[in-house]
Amino acid sequence: MLVSSNPATGKTLRQFGSLSEAELDEKLERAATTFQTYRLTSFDDRAPLMFRAAEILEHEKRELGRLMTFEMGKPIKAAEQEAEKCAWVCRYYAETAREHLADEIVITNASKSFVRFQPLGPVLAVMPWNFPFWQVFRFAAPALMAGNTGLLKHASNVPQCALAIEDIFRRAGFPEGAFQTLLIGSDSVQRVLEDSRVVAVTLTGSEPAGRSVAGIAGKQIKKAVLELGGSDPFVVMASADLDEAVSVGVRARTINNGQSCIAAKRFIIAADIYEEFEKRFVKVMQGLRVGDPLEEQTEIGPLATGQIVTDLDRQVAESVAKGARLLTGGKRIDRPGNFYEPTVLANIPEGTPAFCEEVFGPVALLFKVPDLDAAIGLANSTPFGLGAAAWTNEPSEQDRFVNELEAGCVFINGMVASDPRLPFGGIKNSGYGRELSEFGIREFVNIKTVWIK
Ligand code: NAP
Repeated sequence: MLVSSNPATGKTLRQFGSLSEAELDEKLERAATTFQTYRLTSFDDRAPLMFRAAEILEHEKRELGRLMTFEMGKPIKAAEQEAEKCAWVCRYYAETAREHLADEIVITNASKSFVRFQPLGPVLAVMPWNFPFWQVFRFAAPALMAGNTGLLKHASNVPQCALAIEDIFRRAGFPEGAFQTLLIGSDSVQRVLEDSRVVAVTLTGSEPAGRSVAGIAGKQIKKAVLELGGSDPFVVMASADLDEAVSVGVRARTINNGQSCIAAKRFIIAADIYEEFEKRFVKVMQGLRVGDPLEEQTEIGPLATGQIVTDLDRQVAESVAKGARLLTGGKRIDRPGNFYEPTVLANIPEGTPAFCEEVFGPVALLFKVPDLDAAIGLANSTPFGLGAAAWTNEPSEQDRFVNELEAGCVFINGMVASDPRLPFGGIKNSGYGRELSEFGIREFVNIKTVWIK
């Protein structure tokens, strides 16, 4: 049973039964048979459909935004912006797929040799609830423009979003079977991935889910892309614009109610400016408007599930018990729904949950470092390597951060964000493969070498 409930109230919205084995089989068959004809369509055939999907997302951003807010609690303004961003990625690939996947001529001893990019087949997408539209569209837009078909196994708590996305592609004019939602639990992922009709998988989610799915894909010798957790550093050096670093830092930590893989989770601050940063940062965190996510003014809504609040509460309480200094917040908010106070911890001892684990909620961790080497060392002292932000106006420091931070991306004097034009993905335990840009669309294609004499 997949349950859609409102995290702001705790009330159940709708419930859906999981697909039966026969229904699942029918969908897999449809994905495979549709692929045989869809793969033969041209970019000119596919692009108008993807543009139409973009139009639907834009025209219906209010309703789609409300759906996201109802199902997982993100503030309504951010939810509408998410629908707009999905329209952007649809347009981006509708416009650029032809160029990203054009034949590449290579001069060799053949009369002619070149590389051709061809679709692979039905790709399974296992997706999380935190950006319930964006995560799916950033996979689906390139995958469908490349000529693949898509099968979405969305997070169990957002079945209505999952069905709405399938409906958008249907109404945009994509053939039946080009993009289907599978209402199944995570215990059915293995069965789907072992099916010979499914050729590849992309998973965005936690490290344990990634390990499990990568293991199955490995045994089946199927291509996998993994977008996993992060513990992104946000480093601030003495030359930075402190006001901007504080306001962007708070936003980078609390965006999506603090539930973003690329949220700034560890603030690493140079000792010269630490006290001032801490004072200003805590003040801004205390001023955040927490409340009903349907209200335009709300900056922090509820966390998506009760379990997330429980986990966060444990991480904070255990870290404080082991010596971390609680500067503000630190507990659930006493009202219906999954609300947690914006929280700041400092002096966090090694080995505590706040030091070692991904903290998924509005909880910021502050660290004081004596110099640049210590900042880089601490930033890299995590098993994750998704994003990293560093604030400094010293060119030599900027160079060191760019070269030495162990992450899939480095943003200088800004917050980490995804953009259809730039590759997105991690290293270390944050996963492998890339989404977005030309790198993303080349993940699920056969890179075929052609040699003709
Ligand atoms: P999650 O529990 O790993 O769930 C993600 C998806 O994987 C869901 O569809 C879930 O299905 C499925 N799943 C869970 N365990 C599985 C297993 N053993 N085998 C197969 N599928 C499994 O993660 P989440 O709590 O939804 O999302 C938060 C995590 O995602 C955080 O770690 C965050 O950093 C990460 N994330 C990463 C990125 C990125 O781009 N790198 C982006 C967003 C989020 P059910 O819902 O049915 O369990």
